[in-house]
Amino acid sequence: MTPSPHRADFPGVNGWHYLDTAATAQKPQAVIDAMTRAMGGDYATVHRGVYKRSADMTVAFETARARVATFIGAASENEIVFVRGATEGINLVAHTHPPRPGRDRVLLSQLEHHSNIVPWQLAGYKIDVCPLTEDGRIDLEAAEAMVSEQHAFVSFAHVSNVLGSVLGVKRAAQAAHRVGAKLLLDGCQAAPRMRLNMAELGCDFYVLSGHKLYGPTGVGVLWGRQELLDAMPPWQGGGAMIDRVSFESTTYAPAPQRFEAGTPMITEVIALHAAIDYVDAIGIEAIHAHETVLVRQTRDALRAINSVNLFGPENAAGIVSFAMEGVHPHDIGTILDEENVAIRAGHHCAQPLMAYLGVEATARASFGIYNDESDVEALVSGLKRVSRIFG
Ligand code: PMP
Repeated sequence: MTPSPHRADFPGVNGWHYLDTAATAQKPQAVIDAMTRAMGGDYATVHRGVYKRSADMTVAFETARARVATFIGAASENEIVFVRGATEGINLVAHTHPPRPGRDRVLLSQLEHHSNIVPWQLAGYKIDVCPLTEDGRIDLEAAEAMVSEQHAFVSFAHVSNVLGSVLGVKRAAQAAHRVGAKLLLDGCQAAPRMRLNMAELGCDFYVLSGHKLYGPTGVGVLWGRQELLDAMPPWQGGGAMIDRVSFESTTYAPAPQRFEAGTPMITEVIALHAAIDYVDAIGIEAIHAHETVLVRQTRDALRAINSVNLFGPENAAGIVSFAMEGVHPHDIGTILDEENVAIRAGHHCAQPLMAYLGVEATARASFGIYNDESDVEALVSGLKRVSRIFG
């Protein structure tokens, strides 16, 4: 594999083997520039100003919404709610759908991120846990057997942030819909590496975080089918989400504005637009193919180190979790850092998955468009050093 031609676009990876994209992606210069322009010469509030700069900013903000809609294959920009991130998106859905008598359960899976567990607990749901297949995918045969008319939601990760396993979405949607449950997909790890089309996926809600998609922190997307968003009550109250306010009673704006109380993340939304343009210019399929080669090289090379135990399926998307016999993942991470290699070591906000795997933590290498074979080589040579140090 030749060096990544995109590496030079990312000031943050200059001279560094950054293998923690699943936590957060580095930003291309185009995104940094868009953010700087939006915060500098273009800056003004949106939706309220009567002066031209604000009107222009409003157009830019709403154009970004339309751009997100095309990027994920939504039916309309009115299905796009800007939130702070995937975490806030799931909280919004759980909070606006409190459990009802007879529909008070949610089916999650063993591999979910805490952000797809705790919001349901806070909303008062009873949780059922779908097991995994031996290679670490959500076991949809089990899901089909488990899901019942008591489930208001099935809520699964589209791609696991620990194992890289990819969900069979259509089958999950069929299972949920057969019993009248809604399917929410946590697309944090899918959005940066898979072509999304909401109609084809067949889910009801989808969440993603901008910062994993080469965009800024502080912005994410909740997509919901229009009729579902229209039927949902407001979540947070404040400016911008209202129609008319009086002390006696208040009426609310239609979706998506009803869910966007307060001054929004103006610069972040505009920079997210730039991130989507950047990703689309390369092509998400090309990014996926690139990462697939890196995952294969990494898994093959790690398998050759005797003390390494690999987790997750062979065809994982962009992410490889592993353990080394007798070495704590934090020690792996620290020694790799001395070699200029950044991986993640810990529970990855997935403690129930760690318990299931029988480990406290794993080491995780995750890839982005800027990575190439040199990063895999640095990882492998660093791990050989870890192996020598720990005998
Ligand atoms: N779900 C998954 C699968 C994730 O990887 C993450 C981020 N690690 C989240 C949810 C939460 O995303 P955020 O912190 O951006 O809200």
